[in-house]
Amino acid sequence: MTTIDDFNFDGKKALVRVDFNVPLNEKFEVTDTNRIEAARPTILKILEDGGSAILMSHLGRPKGKSDPDMSLKHLVDKASEILGVKVNFVADCIGEEAKAAAQALKSGEILLLENLRFHAEEEAGDAGFAKELSELGDIYVNDAFGTAHRAHASTTIIARYFEGSKCFGYLMAKEIAAIKKVMETGEKPVTAVLGGAKVSSKITIIENILDKIDHLIIGGGMTYTFVKARGGKVGDSICEDDKQELALEILEKAKSKGVEVHLPVDVVAADDFNNNANTKVVSVDEIPEGWQGLDAGPETLERFKEVILKSRTILWNGPVGVFEMPNFAKGTIAVGNQIDEATKAGAFSLVGGGDSVAAVKQFGFEDKVSYVSTGGGAMLESLEGKTLPGIAAITD
Ligand code: AMP
Repeated sequence: MTTIDDFNFDGKKALVRVDFNVPLNEKFEVTDTNRIEAARPTILKILEDGGSAILMSHLGRPKGKSDPDMSLKHLVDKASEILGVKVNFVADCIGEEAKAAAQALKSGEILLLENLRFHAEEEAGDAGFAKELSELGDIYVNDAFGTAHRAHASTTIIARYFEGSKCFGYLMAKEIAAIKKVMETGEKPVTAVLGGAKVSSKITIIENILDKIDHLIIGGGMTYTFVKARGGKVGDSICEDDKQELALEILEKAKSKGVEVHLPVDVVAADDFNNNANTKVVSVDEIPEGWQGLDAGPETLERFKEVILKSRTILWNGPVGVFEMPNFAKGTIAVGNQIDEATKAGAFSLVGGGDSVAAVKQFGFEDKVSYVSTGGGAMLESLEGKTLPGIAAITD
């Protein structure tokens, strides 16, 4: 894997694809700086080598047209503060103005280009647009894991103009290493904890990881499709009736591959989808009509704990209950604590994909697991076994 450490940027202009797609409030202030902070080590390495950094990113979904609300100029002050270096800005990412600003850039300086997606060519993966971008820098660095699953001009196509002078930034390298640690070189036993609302959105992941794991813990809303398929009574719990057969197939496949599947045995059921609903703990197979399972029960959590604590590699994707409601967040918090304990005992734990990260951050598990992925869709596709175009463009 060619990373930024394989290059010395002295006197070079690095063209860095970052993911500065950050949330802004109505005053256009950055409300979550994580993504800017995540790109910091890469940018500083370039500057410390004696190079300069030209940053390119998208922000929001302007659909190929200029939109002042989605201008990256709103990020300039915050980025300057976080990077500790003044960030210069140019109001287009291609054209004469961008070229002049890039040319004028001196060692130790940073230039941020305007939103790539103000040009429809970016998302179309247009080669001419990618070539124009490529002319701004000497070395291409991709550090935008969050968009690595898209074959856009700045994430993928551009790499063809940097034969021998393209590499991953630190963030990308960390993401790739974390995925590898779970999917390829993970110490056994390897356990996947899959939760979330629906089986349908996790099927490809399950199918891909069955070859790589020893234990599969299933929780959250997905549970009930499996339970009903097995003949259990799930009451009003969320359930995908058309996926029951598939659920049985997954259980069969897991068995044939020697993967132990752990489904909840008891659940916290509620008489309404509401934080203040009446609740009771019931067997997962005996949920009365009018009641729905919204969180993992105590016996279930004991069993999950036993599996998690003996695991050496853990992948966590999706909450085991409706964590947005405090009364049904206890299961997800308990699982987080169990993964924390396993991690402290030496296990490698990766959290990522979709909304998992939101739950982890909300309960402060971010610093307790080994790695929290920064890419929702990109991590999901990696777990599904797909080769991400942004990664292939550097490695091929
Ligand atoms: P996902 O994006 O697939 O990881 O799903 C996350 C969502 O699943 C969260 O918004 C949870 O509230 C929801 N969820 C988890 N458990 C349940 C459940 N038992 N019933 C309904 N929704 C659930």
